[in-house]
Parts: sequence; structure tokens; C-alpha cells
Amino acid sequence: MKTLIDTLRHHHELKPAQYRALLMTRDSQVVEYLMTQAREVAQAHYGTGIYLRGLIELSNMCRNDCLYCGIRRSNRHVSRYTLTREQVLACCEQGYKLGFRTFVLQGGEWGEERSQWIADLVSDIRRGWPDCAITLSLGEHPRETYAMWREAGANRYLLRHETHNERLYGLLHPRGMTIGHRLQCLEWLKELGYQVGAGIMVGSPFQSLASMVEDIQYLVQFKPQMIGIGPFIPQHDTPLARFPAGSVDMTARLYAIMRLALPWSLIPSTTAMATLSPDGRLRGILAGANVVMPNLSPEDHRKQYALYDNKAALGAESAQGIQALDNELSTIGYHIDWSRGDSPNW
Ligand code: SF4
Repeated sequence: MKTLIDTLRHHHELKPAQYRALLMTRDSQVVEYLMTQAREVAQAHYGTGIYLRGLIELSNMCRNDCLYCGIRRSNRHVSRYTLTREQVLACCEQGYKLGFRTFVLQGGEWGEERSQWIADLVSDIRRGWPDCAITLSLGEHPRETYAMWREAGANRYLLRHETHNERLYGLLHPRGMTIGHRLQCLEWLKELGYQVGAGIMVGSPFQSLASMVEDIQYLVQFKPQMIGIGPFIPQHDTPLARFPAGSVDMTARLYAIMRLALPWSLIPSTTAMATLSPDGRLRGILAGANVVMPNLSPEDHRKQYALYDNKAALGAESAQGIQALDNELSTIGYHIDWSRGDSPNW
């Protein structure tokens, strides 16, 4: 098994059965070897610095109805909000003072009638903080909309594909949403010159090892600059509320595999990892992740952006919080890297 890991490290690809063996193994020494190799590769490319992204949860309004999502359209228990332009700019102002050089505008998927508003907002941020990267995570849109936002100054786009398997995608999403269209959006984003993030949910209901292998193969072939992988966590008002959460172990294993397959990728250790386990975020970093995304959103709206239950708060939106995060990272030999943290194009 260690030979497989060495092969992945040096050739960046394995056969499906070999990925499957890595996902299945119960041999703790093999898993530890996988983590060590992934850490070495992450450090060879990015050192022991961890990039910060300031997350701004723009709105919990969404036209979609993904079965796993707490802010899905048909959840009547959500009190809906959208930040004003002034609130968003205030978040950027505060974040910039703290040292953030990337802002991530994330929200539910809106209709196209509001795309111009987003473009204007992106232009305002670009003008106000020209040295910062602007990342959008606002769902599926026509190519022209992505082009308009890129033109306005957005640099990066996160759009997790969630699962590459058509049948599983259909079980997790409402009729009308297809993996084919999502992959098309990812292609458009890449063509338009965005740094693109794709990724999956780990341990979602009905997911199989075979579908995870399919996801790894898709990511290896698509080569996104960013890879967002997080464990599934049920939300109590969704149709999937009764299913168990995914595991930190399996998610960390996927971080490590993807780090070896795409050494230059930017891999966040996600908030969902921290939600499932107090040391989840650090375990993600020890598996080769190199990004964390503290929340810069206004305090009074955070509970309304409940994609899943018991979402962890990092508390890094204050100077003390940043210091606490740096202290936490230092316990495993890492530190905050305050640079913008771009990834080279593949
Ligand atoms: S996952 Fe995204 S697109 Fe789907 S319901 Fe939630 S916010 Fe909307």
C-alpha cells in the first residue's frame, strides 16, 4: 500500500481500484504514511503558512432546493436576509484592517435579475481594495453572467460539484438540476480565466466508494486550482435530516489524496471539519490542507446562514480571534500566511 502512495506522490494519478484501496484501508500505519506524504508535499509547495480567506455570507435567499441544504428554498423555518452593499463593504473594511487579502462572497443562488447588483458590488470591492482577491460562490449562472462578474473584478469562483455521479447527484438535488450543467458551469468559469474551485461532500446519503473514486478521477482530470471537500452534516429542517454525518477521517483521507494528485492545489480545511470534531480543522491541515476561511459576516446574521446544524465559529473576525487561530496553528508547527495566496494555473 505504501508503494501506491509513493506512486500517487510521484505520478499524481492512480487506477480506480488503487484509489479505492486507499479509501478502504483500515491499516493505521498506511493512513499515517498517506498523511505524512501529503504534509510533505503541501510544505514543499506552500511551506507551513496557512492562507486565510475572509468569508462574507451575502444572502441566505436561494432559488434552489438541494435536499441537504439548510437554506433551500422550501425551508420555511429560515428567516431570510441579504446584506446591503454598505454591510458588505464594512465587512471588507474590517477584514482588510485585520490583514485579510481575499474576500469570499458566498450566498444562495439568485435569479439573473440581480446579477448586475452583484457586478456593481464586485466593482466597488475591486475599487476599494485593489490588492485583494475577490472570490465568488454564488451557484450556477449563464456564461454571460460569469463573464460580467469577471469583468467587474472577480478573480476566483467556488462551485463544488458535490458528486460527479449522475445518479447520486439526482438523489441529492431537485429535478431539473443536473451534474452535466454544473460541470458545464465549471468549464465556463475556467475558460473565463477564474481560478476555479470544485469539490465534494463526503459521507452524503447514498454515496458509495465507487462514486468517491469517480470524484477523485474527475478532479484529477479537471485540475481546479481550489478543492473544497467537506463532510456531509445533516440539517434538521431538510429531507436528509435523519442521515448520519460523514466522517472527519474519510474527509482527511481525501484531502491527502488530492494533495498528492494535485500538489499545487489550494485545499481549505473546512468549517464542517471543525464542526464535527474540536481538532477537525487541525487534522485537515495535517492531511495537506493549506487554507482556512474565517467568517467576516455580521454577527447578527450568522445563525441565519445555517447550511447544516451546529456550524462551528472560528472567532477569527477580531484581532484576538486571529491571535487565537495563529496560536492554534502553532501547536502543530504552522502559522498564518497573510499573502493573497494565489495558485498557479495548471
Ligand atoms: S446548496 Fe446552494 S444552491 Fe443548493 S439550496 Fe443550498 S444555497 Fe441553494
